[in-house]
Amino acid sequence: MTLPDATADLRIRENLAQVRATIAAAAARSGRKPEVVRLIGVTKYVEPEIARLLAIAGLIDLGESRPQELWRKAEALADLPVRWHLIGHLQRNKVRRTLSLVACIQSADSLRLMAEIDREAAAMGRSANLLLEVNISGDAAKHGFPPAEVDGALPQIAALQNVRVLGLMTMAALEGGADEARRDFAALRELRDRLLANCPSEISLHELSMGMSGDYEIAIEEGATIVRVGSALFEGLDQ
Ligand SMILES: *Cc1c(COP(=O)(O)O)cnc(C)c1O
Repeated sequence: MTLPDATADLRIRENLAQVRATIAAAAARSGRKPEVVRLIGVTKYVEPEIARLLAIAGLIDLGESRPQELWRKAEALADLPVRWHLIGHLQRNKVRRTLSLVACIQSADSLRLMAEIDREAAAMGRSANLLLEVNISGDAAKHGFPPAEVDGALPQIAALQNVRVLGLMTMAALEGGADEARRDFAALRELRDRLLANCPSEISLHELSMGMSGDYEIAIEEGATIVRVGSALFEGLDQ
């Protein structure tokens, strides 16, 4: 293992400051305070030693899209107060181990998965924080509830006693650029607003997790409360 050098540490701190300034500016444009937007550092492109620099620099909300990679990094960084977020598809046979390591599963994408999370959380004597992933762009390659099916699923989700739904998560269409991304983010916010009309009291739809390196400013302008940023935090590092 090669230890990250001082340049890597400095670069990460600069990138983090830059991303935070960009978040603050976008929040101000949407008439909100910067602290209402939570930054998740997505560490899937880097080794644990680099992820560690981010946590030491003060970003303790970290995200991984693959459960096994999250396990590996959570173990490597177990000495730090990191809050891990799973942001990619979770198979049911990986629920137990993942649940013991994460602060939030942002990618709850089916009732079957949520029922399994509920069972495992009950067995552990705790509750699990979740976001409902919505496939807002309708992209066949993406996971997530079809937007039209969320409303109908809410009563069944509310009946799961050991899961706490905190909001919605989505990814914008991969192709289509800024205009398409803005449409997708606005669509998630509008879906949330419609769902609130008859949302069971057990479920909160407060959080909107949307926006990545290429589009997080747009997501914040459209109401994001959580942005998931990876590559912008690691620019300029040779890996
Ligand atoms: C990889 C990933 C991100 C971060 O992507 P960047 O473009 O590197 O910022 C955000 N959300 C999800 C679900 C991801 O898989």
